[in-house]
Amino acid sequence: MTGKKLTCLECAQINRVPEDRLSAGPKCGTCGAALMPAKAIDVDWTTLQKAARADEVPLVVDFWAPWCGPCKMMGPEFSKAAGTLAGRARLVKLNTEDFPQSSQTYGIRGIPTMIRFEKGREAKRQAGAMRADGIVAFAG
Ligand code: ZN
Repeated sequence: MTGKKLTCLECAQINRVPEDRLSAGPKCGTCGAALMPAKAIDVDWTTLQKAARADEVPLVVDFWAPWCGPCKMMGPEFSKAAGTLAGRARLVKLNTEDFPQSSQTYGIRGIPTMIRFEKGREAKRQAGAMRADGIVAFAG
């Protein structure tokens, strides 16, 4: 079976989606959740790790925390960028307060930090809050 591997952000099941279906609202074969949601999704540590390794569509992660002012300012911008990028990249958020192991695993020194994963590897990272257009440029 061909197609792009995508980890469901709700149930962590790996799906395969034909490339020409990525913009057509594909759904998880197991739980029915949208595989290419037009908004940023909060993920847990297990799902993030799985998606970062397995996904064949760019995955952009916003590492943030509730106590971080710049992170809060960036939140709506990140959501806006997710809408713009729907079908091309997936944008997810990881709360580093809930999952502190993320700092060590990915060597994160300050938040917000964005990392773009592609084909199981880190492709790019950016520290500091950004506006939606900057996030789109970073993710694309
Ligand atoms: Zn699912």
